[in-house]
Amino acid sequence: MSNRLLEVNNLRKYFKVKNGNLHAVDDINFYINTGETLGLVGESGCGKSTTGRALVRLLEADNGEIIFNGDDVLKKGRKEMSDFRQSVQMVFQDPYSCLNPRLSIGNTIAEPLEVNKVYKNRKARQERVRELMSIVGIEDRLINSYPHELDGGMRQRVGIARALAINPKFIVLDEPVSSLDVCIQAQILNLLKRLQNELDLTYLFISHDLSVVKYISDRIAVMYLGKIVELSDHNAIFKDPLHPYTQALLSAIPVPKLDGNAERIILKGDVPSPVNPPQGCRFYTRCIYAKELCSKETPELREVEPERFVACHFAKNLSRTVN
Ligand code: SF4
Repeated sequence: MSNRLLEVNNLRKYFKVKNGNLHAVDDINFYINTGETLGLVGESGCGKSTTGRALVRLLEADNGEIIFNGDDVLKKGRKEMSDFRQSVQMVFQDPYSCLNPRLSIGNTIAEPLEVNKVYKNRKARQERVRELMSIVGIEDRLINSYPHELDGGMRQRVGIARALAINPKFIVLDEPVSSLDVCIQAQILNLLKRLQNELDLTYLFISHDLSVVKYISDRIAVMYLGKIVELSDHNAIFKDPLHPYTQALLSAIPVPKLDGNAERIILKGDVPSPVNPPQGCRFYTRCIYAKELCSKETPELREVEPERFVACHFAKNLSRTVN
């Protein structure tokens, strides 16, 4: 039996802008197995947040399939969506802007319970709110506090408690620790790992920070200009990145070396506009290995080794093992 909870096929999302279409997400394919964390990493504007929002249908995709638990959710009507909406939740980057400043912490966490009418009476509602607070590590005494009275880490715990309220199976975590300082980041990442084990959760973890993604992910997908360029097990990607863009991203992570010879790949130029992305390989204009073929033919994301997918015409020749 397949272990896949989610499968994304040819997902596309463009936005109409003044001078054309902004190719935010352009025919991407991936899957997520039950109980795993897939990290989705890339520079700002590469399409990773749009992907997350399209998966939970906060944005409507233009094309493609999102198969969740065997059903294509893009074919579901409004009524059929209610099961899906209960199974899939999202946690956002900035917990402060996502919380209603006029709602107490208790009422904030209770909101999804009320919207989905999943409690029997007021006592059951309060018990569930207190249980959720305990699960995510919020002290009981804070139940009547307001968001402005909490620090960033505690506010993110409220966001996570809300996401857990109706027992989802799958959570999209969109830069959930990016606005927190390093010490609090570690606490929230450990909390997310613990919750995943205890509640059998599956995550899509979106971040621009490779170190954070490495810590929490089982597999990692690297995005560039609306396309997935590499996808594989997190050990393989860090040990032997195959796509030139992944190699450049990894080389930018500071690694202390006694001989001081850490080799950094400096990318030429800026990321091209997603409104008029280059023909052929999207990375062509910045790639130090580019050849004529790269400007003419778009490399497909292909399996170059079992469970290792790379979108580069010359991937296997560009292996760059990191010791
Ligand atoms: Fe570089 Fe060509 Fe590979 Fe694109 S297909 S990453 S331009 S070598």
